[in-house]
Amino acid sequence: MSSDSAPESTLPYPPIHKDKKFVVLSDWDGTITTRDSNDYLTDELGFGREQRRVLNFKILAGETTFRDSFREMLESVVANGHGFEECKEELRKNIKLDPGFKEFYRYCQTTDIPVVIISSGMDPLIRAVLSNLIGDEDAAKIEIVSNEVKIHPDGKWDIQYRHPSSGFGHDKSQAILPYRALPSPPTIFFFGDGVSDMSAARHADVLFVKQKGDGENDLAAYCKAEGIPHILFEDFGRALGVVRRVVDGQLTVKEALALGKA
Ligand SMILES: [Mg+2]
Repeated sequence: MSSDSAPESTLPYPPIHKDKKFVVLSDWDGTITTRDSNDYLTDELGFGREQRRVLNFKILAGETTFRDSFREMLESVVANGHGFEECKEELRKNIKLDPGFKEFYRYCQTTDIPVVIISSGMDPLIRAVLSNLIGDEDAAKIEIVSNEVKIHPDGKWDIQYRHPSSGFGHDKSQAILPYRALPSPPTIFFFGDGVSDMSAARHADVLFVKQKGDGENDLAAYCKAEGIPHILFEDFGRALGVVRRVVDGQLTVKEALALGKA
C-alpha cells in the first residue's frame, strides 16, 4: 500500500481492477447477508447479544477498538468449546442472503462492474456460507479481502487480523485508497452496515448504508454523527435502482448521495 500511514498488511490483496469505470466494494456480514455471522456466533454460542452490544457501543464511542472487542467476542465462542468446523456448519444452516443480492450481482456481471467483498470476518467462513447461498461457481469467482483464522493443534482457534497494528484489525480504507491513486480512478460504490465499516465510510464515492429491522444500525449512527454523506438502503434490490442510474449517467455521484435513501 502506498500511503505513509498505511498499516502493514499480513495478508495478500487481489490485484486492483485498473481499467473499470465502476467498482463495487461491499461488507459481507449483515450487508450481503441479512444477519451478521460473527454476531450470530457471539449471540448464540458465545457470551451473548447483551454483552456484544455493550462492546459495539464502546467502539462507536471510541472507548475501545473494533480489533480488541471483536477478538473478545470470538474468544467467548472458543471458551464455550465450539470448534471452527462446528461454527462453519452452524452458519451454513442459519445465515441468509439479502433478498436483492443475486439480482444485483447478476447486473454487475453483465455490466462489467467488479464486486469485491471487504470483510472483517474470516475467509473460510465467508466462502462456506457464500457457496451455500449463491452456489460454488459464483462463490469461487467473487474476490474477498478479509481476515483469516488460525486453528491450533488443540482445536482452539483465533482470528488472524490483516492489519494487526490497526485498531480496525482490517482497515477497510486500504482496499479503497489504491483506487484513488489511479490516473483515472473508477467510481467506488461501498456497501456496509456496522462498526466494521467505520474505516471505509469516508473513502467511497457513493456510500450505501444498510438499514435493518433489528435496530443495529451502527454505521448509520456513525455517519450521522460524523456528517458523512450516505444513502440508506433496505436491500440490494433497492440499491440497484440507484446504482443503475449512476452507471447510466442519469444521476451524478452528488445527486445520488443527495437522495439520502434508495
Ligand atoms: Mg457488517
